[in-house]
Amino acid sequence: MKEYRGKDMQRYFIWTIGCQMNKAESQRMASYLDYTDYQVAATVQEADLVVLNTCVVRQSAEDKVLGTLGLLKGLKKEHPNLSILVTGCFVDSDIKGLKRRFPHVDFFFKPGAFSQLTGWIQETQDIYSTPETQYAALKWRAPSPCAFVSIIQGCNKFCSYCIVPYRRGREISCPLGEVVGEVKGLVEQGVKEVTLLGQNVDSYGHDLSERPDLADLLAELNGVGELARIRFLTNHPRDMSQKLIEAVASLGKVCEHLNLAVQSGDNDILKAMRRGYTIEQFRELLHTIKLYMPGISLSTDIIVGFPGETDEQFERTYALLEEIKFDMVHVAAYSHRPGTIACQKYEDNVPLGVKKERFGRIEQLQTNVATIINSAYRGETVEVLVEGQKKGKWYGRTRGDKIVFFNNNDDCLGQLVKIRVEKTSPWSLQGRVNYNG
Ligand code: SF4
Repeated sequence: MKEYRGKDMQRYFIWTIGCQMNKAESQRMASYLDYTDYQVAATVQEADLVVLNTCVVRQSAEDKVLGTLGLLKGLKKEHPNLSILVTGCFVDSDIKGLKRRFPHVDFFFKPGAFSQLTGWIQETQDIYSTPETQYAALKWRAPSPCAFVSIIQGCNKFCSYCIVPYRRGREISCPLGEVVGEVKGLVEQGVKEVTLLGQNVDSYGHDLSERPDLADLLAELNGVGELARIRFLTNHPRDMSQKLIEAVASLGKVCEHLNLAVQSGDNDILKAMRRGYTIEQFRELLHTIKLYMPGISLSTDIIVGFPGETDEQFERTYALLEEIKFDMVHVAAYSHRPGTIACQKYEDNVPLGVKKERFGRIEQLQTNVATIINSAYRGETVEVLVEGQKKGKWYGRTRGDKIVFFNNNDDCLGQLVKIRVEKTSPWSLQGRVNYNG
């Protein structure tokens, strides 16, 4: 029998940097490798095969990727048989250039290109493979009652600060029947909630021959028997249609929570970001959403310190957040990404200290807002889908995406339970099971 670093089994380690899409894709790759003769390695040092799933959305993420590639180069010197595979947004269309820069990497493949991974494994590795292993790459193992499902890759929007369209490429939707089949497969494994993922999930389907849209997909999934909840992200304000809003409002399994990235409260900054909407149009959209779903929970993304952002422009963003009172705000300080329009066109001229100060002010504001929003839940009973245990407490989320912790002696993983909320913080709720709820 072939020996691998003193063992009779090959071991893999998947190193994931970045967003939920990368995490979902890593889970799928792990499923495939589990179905082959590979075993998971506890540490990267024990692995015979390392897959590095990368993110380059921010310079700090790319620096982390470069640092990890350096570390893997050292490991490969010690263990020349180590195979290194790289995927994710670091892999652009210039694969030859990447190979020249990183000769210690055995194989680069584009994000989501699972057939390239399975093809490489079968061509190069002494691995017994069956049709089931190929099938497993499609029908992946669900790690919890809540699963992520990628439905569209890439982005056609070209926001001026964003590297994603250059790295992930143009939008490619997964056929509706395949998504429904995948979700049914997950439900058979006990999954109760799916989150549909895409860089711009609202533009799902325009590239498919039947041209289904996200509302059509949600309607199909709403009919999947044991599935309890459906979520989706990330939404683009320009692509959120009336039909989609009506679908969220009317389909019982679709949760009343939307992530709607506004990025700035100032029209000139939005224009320079090439977001394609004005703040008036964004407000109008929120008005429509709240007409259909007054109690909807909303989260957003904000970038502070975009090139040229003045104090007045930042104050408009601050005022918008004060006015709208999102349930959650993801804030980031702008950093130049070589290759983007903003990097070519503008100077990164907001000093780091100013960016940090604006970042801190948004975080403090949001802490205050979330404290007030969450405290209104005290004494209320909420329905929670239980996702797991942390530090001896069960936890799960409400339909509105609030994290709830509670004690319970019985195993309630994957169950919908009613929790009476007793304590709140800006980040979570705590309570006890309400058996009469
Ligand atoms: S919508 Fe804009 S920010 Fe989002 S992935 Fe596409 S280009 Fe990037």
